[in-house]
Parts: sequence; structure tokens; C-alpha cells
Amino acid sequence: MTDSLDHLPRAGDGGRDAAALEANFRDLHPPLTQRQAIIESQRCLYCYDAPCIEACPSNIDIPRFIREISEDNINGAAQTILEENILGGSCARVCPTEILCEQSCVRNHDAECQPVLIGLLQRHAIDHMHFTEHPFPRAADTGRHIAVVGAGPAGLACAHRLATHGHRVTIFEADPKPGGLNEYGIARYKLVDDYAQKEIDFLLAVGGIEIRHGQRLGDNLDLATLKRDHDAVFLGLGLGASRRLGLTGEDAPGVATPGLMPATDYIRTLRETDDLSTLPLARRCVVIGAGNTAIDMAVQMARLGADEVTLVYRRGIDAMPATGHEQEIARANGVKIVTWARPEEILLDAEGRVAGMRFARTESRDGTLVDTGETLEIAADGVFTAIGQTLDEAHLAAIPGLEREGGKVHVDGHFRTDLPGVYAGGDCIALGQDLTVQAVQHGKLAAQAIHQDLMAQQEVA
Ligand code: SF4
Repeated sequence: MTDSLDHLPRAGDGGRDAAALEANFRDLHPPLTQRQAIIESQRCLYCYDAPCIEACPSNIDIPRFIREISEDNINGAAQTILEENILGGSCARVCPTEILCEQSCVRNHDAECQPVLIGLLQRHAIDHMHFTEHPFPRAADTGRHIAVVGAGPAGLACAHRLATHGHRVTIFEADPKPGGLNEYGIARYKLVDDYAQKEIDFLLAVGGIEIRHGQRLGDNLDLATLKRDHDAVFLGLGLGASRRLGLTGEDAPGVATPGLMPATDYIRTLRETDDLSTLPLARRCVVIGAGNTAIDMAVQMARLGADEVTLVYRRGIDAMPATGHEQEIARANGVKIVTWARPEEILLDAEGRVAGMRFARTESRDGTLVDTGETLEIAADGVFTAIGQTLDEAHLAAIPGLEREGGKVHVDGHFRTDLPGVYAGGDCIALGQDLTVQAVQHGKLAAQAIHQDLMAQQEVA
């Protein structure tokens, strides 16, 4: 995965051992203690028409679960959360709560110092739940069998909800592990201790769900066969391809420019390694982009020991998709943020390896981004692109006839595609902001639609 970085030193060079590096990737936000959780839960006003519920993409009854924590009913709190969001444990860790529930909390104003810490309370409930029996028993088998493509948050949430209705589900997944973004695409310090897999083990304990790995649409999987063998199909494809800079030399077929790599590829390798000291280290690192993936990449390279990490964005700070909280994390880790600079040329040394980037300086004129005529060069031995993800064309080629909207799959309000019996949700569809919590919600609602459509067909028959 990191072949194009083979020429770089390793993170462990210079005496940093794996344990010392691992200490840099500990839990970003340590959990609340029992006492802290009780005190924090008592700050909630249990608002009628609570704005935090409105702001939660998965519609969790936040005041209810916080009240249950305050009454020391942890299982009740966990059940309240999981009823709406079966991946509530990982969402508590990775959700940008500062722009969702906590932003809308009525205690989020200067006189209060901070909103109720909803994310940490949610984590507390899930981390301390203890059920003797699975809290979501499976209904009697319906005899229906649904195919789910993709074991990311959307696919897993869809499969779980379908299973609780008594349907049998087979998930077809290309990667060797389930979890999608939670397993392969999140900064290591946000989901520690193999949490993604532990959460999935709990989800699968409902029963009725089989996961088949090494199954890739457009390779050894096609929609016609899935439709023929199943009563419905849910596509939770994610966005499998990284956008390219479109600069000269970048697109040479089959040739990776040494030192240039999509950030998602590096993050994936970093998430999966057992020994951080073996990872290639870009001592002078440039990250191009302004979303959470760009921040995750920049911060992690800084924590691995890079001397200089620069994040470059073509617009101003206010337009950055990464939240203010994420930007603060970057700055706290020594990441320099350069704005108003557009990638113009990859600078290579005599051996064809990345030596830096030239950027055109930009500005906004009447709302349009234009070059100022000035340029900026930043020396780097590693350049990582995080300028967005797109649908994998090989996936789409395997689904002829699927209507698209803005480069993504078009669905109606019930997550139905234009193909009968085929539903879709998560990052691959045109709705939403590519958040894990939204993917979970899509999967859950699509499962409801599939269930209702199948039951309606049964009544007609
Ligand atoms: Fe509690 Fe804040 Fe939600 Fe009100 S808005 S119910 S205070 S968390």
C-alpha cells in the first residue's frame, strides 16, 4: 500500500521504538469517569423539543439517555442509543459533535463555558453497558434473504435492522475486515484498541447476518446475480476512489510517483500496522486538502515524528470543511496551515522523486477563486492528497442503468434507486455530508423501507 514511499526513512529510525510511537496514538479524548459522567449528566436540562435530537443525524433521544445515566441506568441509556444507532459507540468517538448535537445544546453559550458533553456521555453508556442477553432479539425468520454490498457503517446498520425484522442477510465485502471507514479510514487515535471490530462483534451477535469477504462489485460480483439470488439488494458502496490533482506526471498509468500518495492509502496502512516504527516517515510532509481526512493525515504524520507538516488549502480558513475543533487539533500538533494556495506542479528531484510542490496563490474575487499571479514553493519528501473521494467507476460499471446525481447514486426519499428492488445509502448516495452517523442512519432507514416493501409484496401476493 505504501510502495511509493519505500525510499523514505522509517518512523522508528533514530531510536524511536514502537511502544514510544504507540504512546503518541493513545485515545484523543479520554473517557469520563463514573463520577464525571454522573455530574455531567446532571447538567442536562432534559429539554422539551430538545434541539440536540433535531441536530443528531440518527435521531437519538439524547435527553432520555442522559437522564438514564443520571439515574445510573447504564443499560437503559445504551439501549436508548443503540435503538437508533447501532454503531453509537464509534459515532460517540468520531462524530463532529461540535457541529451537531453539542453545537445545538441550549447550554452551549459563554455563560455555561461548554455544552453538555453529549458525545462523551454517549461513549460512557456504551462502554459500560452489560447485557446478559442481546438487547435486540431477532424476530422469527421471514424466509427473505437480502444482499448488502459493503460492510461499512451503512451496510452494517442496514444488515442489523433487517436481521432484527427476521430477514436473512448476506454482506458482500471486498476488504478482509468489516467496518469500512471505521476500520480503515479514521485516525488511529480516534478509535483505539480495535474498537471497530469489537463493536461489529456485538452487532453481529443479533444473528442472521453472514459476511463474505473478498467480494468486489465489477470483479467477482455483479448486480444481476445478486438480484436473482436475493429478495432485495442494498448498496453501501462508500467512495472507493481518491480524487486526483490532475497535474502533469501524476496520471502515468501504473506508475506511482515516489513520494506522492492519497492520504487514505497511508491512513489505511497506519490503522492496520502492528508496528508504527516500520511506517515510512515524510520528514517534510505536505498534505493537500482541508477536510477531516487531511487533518487526520497531517496530525498522524506529525505524531510519527515528521519535522515539518504543512496542510495546504486553496481557499480560506472559513471555507475549510474540517471543523474548528479539528483545526485546533492540527495546530496543537504543530501542523502549519497554509490557505489560498492551489497545487500547480509536483516538483521532482533528479531521480524522479517528490521534492516539493509549487502552488499558485489564490484569492476570491466576487466569489470566484482566481490566481493572483504569485506562486509558493514548499519543499517536501512526501505529498499526500486528501481532496475528496469519488465512486469507484469499476463498481458503477457493474451496475448498469443506475441513475446518478452529482457523481453519486440517485435515490428517492426511501433510499430506493431507479432499479427495482435495489436500495442504496451511505457515502455513495447524493444525500448528506459523508459522515459515519449519516451512513448509519441511511442504512437503518433503507432497511425499514426494504422491510416495508417486502411485507407489502407479501400482502399483495
Ligand atoms: Fe440536554 Fe443540551 Fe439536549 Fe437540552 S439541548 S436536552 S440541555 S443535551
